[in-house]
Amino acid sequence: MPTACRLEQVKIKQNKFVKIFHTIIIGAGPGGLACAGKLAENNIDVLVLERKARVGPKVCAGGITWSGLVQRFPAELIEKSFHHQHIHSAWQQTVISCQEPMIATINREKLGQWMLDKVRRAGVTVLTSTPVKNITKQEVTTVDGATYRFHHLVGADGSSSIVRKFLGLPSEQRGLGIHYDVDGEFDQMIWHLDPDLFDYGYGWIFPHKTGASIGAYIYKNDTGPGLLKQKLDHWIKKHGINTGSARLRAGLINSDFQGYCFGNMFLVGDAAGLASGLTGEGIYPAIVSGETVASQLLGNGQKTDCLDSIIKKQRRHGRLIRLASTNRLLSKLMMETFILGLRIGIFNFTDLEMA
Ligand SMILES: Cc1cc2nc3c(=O)[nH]c(=O)nc-3n(C[C@H](O)[C@H](O)[C@H](O)COP(=O)(O)OP(=O)(O)OC[C@H]3O[C@@H](n4cnc5c(N)ncnc54)[C@H](O)[C@@H]3O)c2cc1C
Repeated sequence: MPTACRLEQVKIKQNKFVKIFHTIIIGAGPGGLACAGKLAENNIDVLVLERKARVGPKVCAGGITWSGLVQRFPAELIEKSFHHQHIHSAWQQTVISCQEPMIATINREKLGQWMLDKVRRAGVTVLTSTPVKNITKQEVTTVDGATYRFHHLVGADGSSSIVRKFLGLPSEQRGLGIHYDVDGEFDQMIWHLDPDLFDYGYGWIFPHKTGASIGAYIYKNDTGPGLLKQKLDHWIKKHGINTGSARLRAGLINSDFQGYCFGNMFLVGDAAGLASGLTGEGIYPAIVSGETVASQLLGNGQKTDCLDSIIKKQRRHGRLIRLASTNRLLSKLMMETFILGLRIGIFNFTDLEMA
């Protein structure tokens, strides 16, 4: 275990000092905050730099799985939980049921604020409205010109990570997710798998406390947001849902994993490309990778089992989606076979999960 770190500073010019942190984390999403919390609990001085003014809000459907995060979060964070999954395709409809709730929904803003409160109480400094614009091997500089020096840098800055770019890693496998936050009462969690509509992805209705996230994810960005929106709108209309004044929001999901440890620099979550290319699930991988990187920084390098298992699943999901996306007919057959397999019990819904 490293000894507790004292905040250092160095003089770089006359009367100009730069603060040195044991670890600087760029991004206060679930990955960055999970990493920061674990480090601070072990008396490591951590600085988190967050671009947005408020921690939490993120384009996301907010789905978490029973085996992944449902049991790790307090009940007050859970918006709705589901024992039944309604799975539709062009040729079939089925309902998968389980004694435990398979999936629950959370509000990303509430999750972010809950994690922020925890890390601040552990002693982490989180600076919001502080985008990082430049990185060197030792320092980061924010848009307002402040410079901070680090011994270790963690890129937890999402799918368009500046740390990943600094490391020279491409992000060729980035899917696109679009969704509306629609008001109203929704009871059923619905997945729609049909390549004629959503290419190599799916459409969803994920009910929340006072509305639902209704959206679509595609693994390849070829369709483009405009055409995907048209297809999603058509599907929503078929369900008789009125999106009212809800605004469509879009976000990229990076599944191009190429490692997470690069000397004194680390990548976690979407920055590392750890989201599933098949489903777009990324909150659980972000939290586990954040905690694992913290363990490594604390010298507990052996504790990587959970992340190793995510990486294996993530690679399996990647192989499947790459195969499916070679041909629309093949994709359709694979999806229909999967649903048939679910109906007759040779596949498990949990095969789709990252946990
Ligand atoms: C439409 C959509 C639906 C989704 N639905 C689900 C779902 O139901 N379940 C699920 O598990 N996953 C879902 N995901 C994926 C999930 O949102 C991400 O995988 C997850 O948020 C990754 O967490 P993270 O901490 O790695 O990154 P993020 O949550 O993206 O956090 C990164 C943070 O870094 C900050 N940042 C970026 N650049 C800088 C910079 N230069 N300086 C300072 N700060 C910076 C950002 O402001 C942000 O706060 C969805 C994604 C989309 C787009």
